[in-house]
Amino acid sequence: MKYVIANLKMNLVTAKECDRYLDALTQAWKVYVQSDAVKLIVCPSPFFMERFAQKLPAGILLGGQNMFWEEKGSFTGEVSPQSLQDSGVKAVICGHSERRGFLGETDEQVALKVKAAIDHAMTAIVCVGETAEEKEHDETATVIAEQIAAALDFVSEEQLERVIIAYEPRWAIGTGMTPSSEDIMQTRIVIQKMLIKKYGTEAASQAAILYGGSVNASLMDEVCIKADMSGVLVGKESLDPAELLKIIGALTASGA
Ligand code: PEP
Repeated sequence: MKYVIANLKMNLVTAKECDRYLDALTQAWKVYVQSDAVKLIVCPSPFFMERFAQKLPAGILLGGQNMFWEEKGSFTGEVSPQSLQDSGVKAVICGHSERRGFLGETDEQVALKVKAAIDHAMTAIVCVGETAEEKEHDETATVIAEQIAAALDFVSEEQLERVIIAYEPRWAIGTGMTPSSEDIMQTRIVIQKMLIKKYGTEAASQAAILYGGSVNASLMDEVCIKADMSGVLVGKESLDPAELLKIIGALTASGA
């Protein structure tokens, strides 16, 4: 299975903007030749989750951008995993670098979110990635290995099928810069080795490993297909449904 994950971030901030987007996505989706081998997951603001749940075209899955690890209680402003599950969310992004960077989200918190997602029958989309400085110091493999080990702390072998890993170099997010397919492939190998060590070859081979960071349709060959990734996590380009479907089309055309 291949995945395209649309992270709409804190965009589409009014009902009107959401409706315009949903109408355009519905139109584009009608003419897209659908493939069972590629799943599209759209992650809107939690504020408009119900709206997206009602209006997303059939065949597109609803995703969350974040959530808290506790179900309820005195956690002002947080979003409960139970609320996401109840709204029809099937997958949730855990540990996006914007949260790690701007909001100080830690590896330990990411691990709790991953566990909470799985406990609430959702797939955890675990984001890992090195900073520009870490890349410069040749620390990518070490950083990724540490992030993966921490994030999967509570995940058992049977639960690994509920995990998608997104390799998103922090320096590539929203910058227009991307790593080479060789570099992406090297990191994929690091991740796969970690998974094999912890869960064995068979379980590890099931885990989807995606690339994210300044993806557009014309880069799909370099950042996804040549690097043998299981799909992409898309930020900015996902705000244009026509571009989003071009990205899916590139993946489908590659024989996904
Ligand atoms: C992201 O937010 O995860 C992302 C990949 O963003 P962009 O595609 O805009 O770089």
